[in-house]
Amino acid sequence: MLLPVINVQRCIACGVCERVCPTAAVKIEQQHAVLVKPDACTFCDRCEIACPTEAISRSFAIRFAPSSQPLTKAQLGQLNLGD
Ligand code: SF4
Ligand code: SF4
Repeated sequence: MLLPVINVQRCIACGVCERVCPTAAVKIEQQHAVLVKPDACTFCDRCEIACPTEAISRSFAIRFAPSSQPLTKAQLGQLNLGD
């Protein structure tokens, strides 16, 4: 599970994430949200869902099935996903 990432450029310090977080893992400090207690995060996504500016979000990871091979760089280039 991945912890929320906060984009401080987007954060308007509204405090919504702090209010909806059930474990007080995120707080407003120095004009933006900060993940003050990462160990307390339960990955519930409430902060991401509630944030009005999409400033806080949990990244996602692409997982390949165990039997499949990751795409090669050439294949990724064909998909226009960049390097
Ligand atoms: S994902 Fe849930 S527990 Fe973690 S910081 Fe956001 S609201 Fe709090
Ligand atoms: S809800 Fe979004 S904009 Fe508001 S304080 Fe949290 S991260 Fe910043």
